[in-house]
Amino acid sequence: MTKVLARFSSYDDVRVRSTVFEIMDLMGGERIGSGMKVLVKPNLLAPAYPENAVLTHPAIVKAAVEYALDRGAKVQVSDSPATGSFERILRTSGIGQALRGLPVTCLPFEKSVRLPASPPFTQLELAQDAIEADVIINLPKMKTHSQMLLTLGVKNLFGCVVGLRKPEWHMKTGVDRHAFARVLVQVYAALKPSFNILDGVLAMEGQGPGRGGTPREVGVILGSTDAVALDVTVCGMVTLAPEKLLTNVAAHELGLMPQDIQVEGTLPELTDYQMPQVGSVVFGPEIFHGIVRRHFVQRPEIEESACKLCGECWKFCPAHALERQKEKIRFDYDRCIRCYCCLEVCPYGAISALEPPAGRALSKTIRAVFRTFAGR
Ligand code: SF4
Ligand code: SF4
Repeated sequence: MTKVLARFSSYDDVRVRSTVFEIMDLMGGERIGSGMKVLVKPNLLAPAYPENAVLTHPAIVKAAVEYALDRGAKVQVSDSPATGSFERILRTSGIGQALRGLPVTCLPFEKSVRLPASPPFTQLELAQDAIEADVIINLPKMKTHSQMLLTLGVKNLFGCVVGLRKPEWHMKTGVDRHAFARVLVQVYAALKPSFNILDGVLAMEGQGPGRGGTPREVGVILGSTDAVALDVTVCGMVTLAPEKLLTNVAAHELGLMPQDIQVEGTLPELTDYQMPQVGSVVFGPEIFHGIVRRHFVQRPEIEESACKLCGECWKFCPAHALERQKEKIRFDYDRCIRCYCCLEVCPYGAISALEPPAGRALSKTIRAVFRTFAGR
């Protein structure tokens, strides 16, 4: 049986500390011994403020760090951000301030180590600090994700793929979300964090995972020694069938789906949680795929008035599908693999995943036809 612990909480320092300490104790935190290397892995995607609900909240990071320090561990807080300097992320997120005065090392992942992977891939390259840690405390944020629906415990470990290796994986898997989910699960399996604590106090719904998403108060912190169990539990909480989350499917295929998940504590039931629209990237006969990708399937679009031409999106795009043309940004939708990294890294929330007008009209027609037949 795999337990998932659910506790209601706010971001009040005292309350978070007692919640995180209780969850860690119940997960077997006494395994952390004096002198052990403990890696705390929050979501530090890009510079953002706590109220944006993009990053793991500083109160949760601090509580996890203090727990490990109390056990005499050597603690490091790291991630490999998609954009922005690590120092700036620590500053804007409030994590730097929260950890001030604590004997903890904060630095971005830099060196990678190669590990064998299951087919169709041959190897993974993961952060050396993560591989060499005795214990990993994984601290995901509960967020929606325009490519993968949700980013939770399993996906948070993708931050242990260092720097530009991340867009390389997006390119390798291309429009195949299932293949990308298998990469994510393999990263998780290689690292197998000892403890996973999900920040669902101020979660994100809508067009996440970047600034285009909408913060939503959910008020929970969940913990489990198994990130797949944690993800399945969040699916239940937002009334999403677990098989809709492709990392769950990949975990099942790779033999990593826990048999019996037991939730201890009360979960809110979020029947109106706004999920991102994630449609097919192509459909129909191959000869029409170009037209379909250009005109019918969801794609990234820019709100020009919000764009500051900072360049983060075109620097990160793994497919080189974005370029600046004078004072505008132009997408090449034939090249675009719909990974939505541009949406994730845009510091101004200027990019959204939207269905083009032709796609909207087609969806409307299909829904109308379906209603007609269903009504018969
Ligand atoms: S869309 Fe966002 S990331 Fe891209 S240039 Fe504009 S502000 Fe920067
Ligand atoms: S334009 Fe955006 S969604 Fe398309 S490939 Fe580039 S980063 Fe991914």
